[in-house]
Amino acid sequence: TQPLSERDPDIFGAITSELGRQRDEIELIASENIVSAAVMQAQGSVMTNKYAEGYPGRRYYGGCEYVDVAENLAIDRAKQLFGCEFANVQPNSGSQANQGVMQALIQPGDTILGMSLDAGGHLTHGARPNQSGKWFNAVQYGVRKEDNLLDYDQVEALAKEHLPKIIIAGGSAIPRVIDFARMREIADMVGAYLHVDMAHFAGLVAAGAHPSPFPHAHVATTTTHKTLRGPRGGMILTNDAEIAKKVNSAIFPGIQGGPLMHVIAAKAVAFGEALRPEFKTYIQQVVENAQALSDQLIKGGLDTVTHGTDTHVVLVDLRPKSVKGNATEKALGRANITCNKNGVPFDPEKPTVTSGIRLGSPAGTTRGFGAPEFRQIADWIIEVVDGLAANGEDGNGAVEAKVKAEVAELCARFPLYPGL
Ligand code: PLP
Repeated sequence: TQPLSERDPDIFGAITSELGRQRDEIELIASENIVSAAVMQAQGSVMTNKYAEGYPGRRYYGGCEYVDVAENLAIDRAKQLFGCEFANVQPNSGSQANQGVMQALIQPGDTILGMSLDAGGHLTHGARPNQSGKWFNAVQYGVRKEDNLLDYDQVEALAKEHLPKIIIAGGSAIPRVIDFARMREIADMVGAYLHVDMAHFAGLVAAGAHPSPFPHAHVATTTTHKTLRGPRGGMILTNDAEIAKKVNSAIFPGIQGGPLMHVIAAKAVAFGEALRPEFKTYIQQVVENAQALSDQLIKGGLDTVTHGTDTHVVLVDLRPKSVKGNATEKALGRANITCNKNGVPFDPEKPTVTSGIRLGSPAGTTRGFGAPEFRQIADWIIEVVDGLAANGEDGNGAVEAKVKAEVAELCARFPLYPGL
């Protein structure tokens, strides 16, 4: 019962500083969000003590009656949110959800077809340094040069040439809606499974602001901590009873042991929140804010990949102002605006430099920002970038300090975790 501040002042200090950082900075990292106090309470609960290998009603340990309640609620709410028949809520992360699908459906050496990292895909979709690229014969598709949209003709040609067992749709830097029906058509032509990784846009799907992967996908995975606004974790969904069985065995005992029951309880809380009408309003605002951000950045002389967004992601192309992603990430950081450098399609720069930054509206929208605030943020980004364009990597210190002060005023108007 000794409080953390006394038991471990070093960790208490780090957590307190992190809370301060989140309060004082504008969070534009597209894969992040701000969970409710209720989600944190569930995650910080006694359920962390419990071993529960297996599934509700079929555990390898005694004393699972209450964690079963939590896991069954998480499963039922997930199925309701995504209108599907089956959910495995045990993957510890989005990566493990994807690994679970491969463990369930294919063998090492089999061919997979996913979007390449530099076009907006994810590491776990067959990138060379990832297990998915090492243990499988990974073939990668990209986007079209003329409009940076997913190249369905290339997907079809590669599928016919390489006969993959799984085709993966989805990624980490895709601002536009994917044509799931077309992807399924291609998968059917070659007898492949269609796996939709909706990690980024799952919250939009849950709120009806984005097409659902179902009925097109054989299987879908997601993280639970991005637009879904839950604890860090993953989940696998399907409507196919055979695939469901294989997925359950793949997660446990295939690649995981005891599930993180405290996280599963927190997932249930977040899914419960996402089922409420307020979540729809939130997600509509997320999309509106991303569009406001993109429009204002374009007005200020930057470009955004695909010249806009259908989602929460804005991939900024910095080349019109001749600045680099790494320098921009640092300069914005000095002004308390947090984002990540990100390659743009066909980026001439190395991944450690890049010509872009990836921005997202989920965290700021949770904080309460609307379109006027996001337009203001775009103006600040332009000011900081113009400072880099004029002065090189050091930027314009006076402008960055002025923006930082204005950011502080905005953050004070939208307090984060008051009372914590
Ligand atoms: N899939 C996609 C599309 C992602 O964007 C991410 C994370 O960024 C993941 C999977 C992996 O999730 P995690 O970081 O929880 O392993």
